[in-house]
Amino acid sequence: MDGGSVYLGVFSGMGVFYITTPIYYPNAPPHLGHAYTTVFADVLARYHRLIGDEVFFLTGTDEHGLKLQRVAEREGVSPKEFVDRMAGVYREYWAMLDISYDRFIRTTDPDHERVVVEAVRRLYEKGLIYKAKYSGWYCVDCEKFYSEGEYEVVGGKPYCPIHRKPLEFLEEETYYFRLSVFEDFLRRILSEGGIVYPDQYAREVLGKIDKEGLRDVSIARPRERVWWGIPLPWDRDYTVYVWFDALLNYVTGAGYLSDEERFKKYWGGVHHVIGKDILWFHTAIWFSVLEALEIPPPKKLIVHAFVINRGLKMGKSAGNIVRIEDLVERYHGSDGARYIIARIFNLYRDVEVSNELLDSFYNSELVDTYGNLVRRVGVLAKKKLNGIVENRGLESGLEKKITETIEAYREAMDKYETPQAITAVMDLLREANAYVNKTRPWEKQEPIEELYSLLETIKYATIMLSPITPRAAGRTSQALGFTITNPYETRLGGQEKYIIREAPILFKKIK
Ligand SMILES: [Zn+2]
Repeated sequence: MDGGSVYLGVFSGMGVFYITTPIYYPNAPPHLGHAYTTVFADVLARYHRLIGDEVFFLTGTDEHGLKLQRVAEREGVSPKEFVDRMAGVYREYWAMLDISYDRFIRTTDPDHERVVVEAVRRLYEKGLIYKAKYSGWYCVDCEKFYSEGEYEVVGGKPYCPIHRKPLEFLEEETYYFRLSVFEDFLRRILSEGGIVYPDQYAREVLGKIDKEGLRDVSIARPRERVWWGIPLPWDRDYTVYVWFDALLNYVTGAGYLSDEERFKKYWGGVHHVIGKDILWFHTAIWFSVLEALEIPPPKKLIVHAFVINRGLKMGKSAGNIVRIEDLVERYHGSDGARYIIARIFNLYRDVEVSNELLDSFYNSELVDTYGNLVRRVGVLAKKKLNGIVENRGLESGLEKKITETIEAYREAMDKYETPQAITAVMDLLREANAYVNKTRPWEKQEPIEELYSLLETIKYATIMLSPITPRAAGRTSQALGFTITNPYETRLGGQEKYIIREAPILFKKIK
């Protein structure tokens, strides 16, 4: 199988930034874990819109399968009624965090169901799907079989290592996808590098292939057991397994089999964002499915580690689930919540956070360093210059610092390191605050150069923070009279004058 390579010339993806989150399993409302991935993806989407790329941002819900079938049964509604309700809940949460997705895809959407049927039929016709018997220990919540060594043993019985509950022994005749034939392809593509980011995760997958090899995977469930899903087109006694159904959302969203022109345009620029827990699915399995369908692998698979939130105590939530509404309440709105998520985000390793740490980021950076400067400069400009600040040149120290910051910011964003991008901007703002204290513009008659230099600094800082704190950016730009434009194409010192409408108070301090 080497069919994918023939398409590479067609899928160029130049100037196109297609970004996806995993589609979430809507058995319960989203929490901090979901917000971590989704806010990060949204920051990247907004950043690429800012720098002029054509962006398509896809998120959604994974709505089929046994677990949802059972949850709906418990609630006494049909699975469709249940997922309709939960898709609405997810949209509400994403609105709460100002997530700017372009499409909210649901695996029950008709265009997606068509893609799944056609994709599974193509693989079957290629001989990549076959029927065989399977028996083993199965976790209903994971919807997956566990082999020996993978499960835990409690009181002599096999237990799910994730859900800590007894596994069920299942024997069933099912259909398999021939994952094993893609071993050479996977080794090649993963060792070449460049797709999985950071590269440590590609090495992790290669290590797993070395150790365990590649086994064929079940691609369907007997309908008598799992009826809530898409039937196999050639054997309606079977339902397509949710993993296959879910992964294909990424191609559906770009127009696969419905708008080939659009698909070719967007697929060349596709960036998947995932947590490291679903790394295997999104590499070994997803890259092989794509290869089997003669579709090139994604341009980037961005993998992140987790936030360990033992130390967080918010609202009434129990255990280690932090509710999004508590986060938004504590940090006075979406900007504050988004800021702390982007500030602690880490691709490489799990980070342990506490209220003290998050509060200090919020208070000392967003409130004291950014918010106070905007307020202070706004008030001074109104009082000293009647709110009209003309360009009489830019102070050279700040000019140099702004230029350096733009470079550092760009470098960080190219590496998807939102905390570094934020830190660079905060350094600039700290320097601006120091400049205010040093030059004491309140003691001067007409501090034109000082205030113009400070307004230019605020403008660039606001533009660079705009993917993270879009509301504050909108408010600041209106209040101080500038527009949010591509920072790499805006001329430093190019604004003729600033007309100040108000001196806004952007953020409320946490006491
Ligand atoms: Zn489980």
